[in-house]
Amino acid sequence: MKTAMRLGKKSLLAAVLGLLGLAIQPAAAEERAKDLFGAEKLPAATAAQSFGFYSKGCFAGGVAIPMDGPTWQVMRPSRNRRWGHPAMIALIEKLSRDAAADGWPGLLIGDISQPRGGPMMTGHASHQIGLDADIWLTPMPDRAMTRAQRDSMSATLMVDEKTHLVKDALWTPQHTALLKRAASYPEVERILVNPGIKKKLCDTVKGDRSWLRKIRPFWGHDYHFHMRIGCQPGSPDCKAQEATPDDDGCGKPLAWWFTEEPWRPNKNPDAPKARDVMTMANLPKECRAVLDAPGPVSAEAATFHGGAVPVAAAAPEPEAPSQPATPASDSGDLPSAANAFAATPRMGAPVPRPRPPAN
Ligand SMILES: [Zn+2]
Repeated sequence: MKTAMRLGKKSLLAAVLGLLGLAIQPAAAEERAKDLFGAEKLPAATAAQSFGFYSKGCFAGGVAIPMDGPTWQVMRPSRNRRWGHPAMIALIEKLSRDAAADGWPGLLIGDISQPRGGPMMTGHASHQIGLDADIWLTPMPDRAMTRAQRDSMSATLMVDEKTHLVKDALWTPQHTALLKRAASYPEVERILVNPGIKKKLCDTVKGDRSWLRKIRPFWGHDYHFHMRIGCQPGSPDCKAQEATPDDDGCGKPLAWWFTEEPWRPNKNPDAPKARDVMTMANLPKECRAVLDAPGPVSAEAATFHGGAVPVAAAAPEPEAPSQPATPASDSGDLPSAANAFAATPRMGAPVPRPRPPAN
């Protein structure tokens, strides 16, 4: 059944898209996942675990990065997207410190994930499993901005819209150093940037160019870069992405971005986006349990302040289970009636497992 589900996901989505054309109302069982996940204010207070793929999944045990740190500020706070897998949040904090040591004034942190991940009401196809983060290419100002300023401040567009080349007056060696530092971490599998930024790096980086392999050109990403880490230990149901090719990616694949083809207007601009039609049936079955799991007492209780990860501490300890812990692969079969009065369900034992091969 599980195999059939996996094989059938693509055709299922195609079927849903087809049905939509016939204006059939989705049944209650097919509630749009973005409505449910977009409404969550707090994470699932269980062991940290990602389910599914970056663009089709959810996660439990999320923690928030504090609004301010010595070397970062969170932008667009009203979106409540400063949540991630604890490994992701710890890595962003580390990057902010390392980058500061490299001469970057501090990170402006854009969207990470919703508290329980999942598809969003606006923006982003990915960012669903707590392992993606957007970081601005604008240096942090030397004062703490107000919440209103963080919601309204414009970002600096680094790329000319017509030529798709980096604006040379804006690009500095510190921008290059920031991307190099982010790419240096083994956890980081790829970094998405505008093709103009990739080209700038291809044209200017001297010496060690091995890290350019992780820097991948993509549409948008002209005021921020997108840092993606791999599936983390304890997430056997996290689906790894394909490994990036071994070369620096500065050859033919990059040249394609400077042809007319990638920039042709979308032939079907009104076609629904995947995140807009995704139902709970399209997501891994564990995501229902993630939605139903109790939350921490407050956002602060699940905010990462370095050191010990507040995940388990955020939720009351479950009473001793009368039955053996549920195996991870069956966690989707947990009773959906779990609530604040019931023992916290075990969302799969957080036993580290070896990561699957990258491809
Ligand atoms: Zn992103």
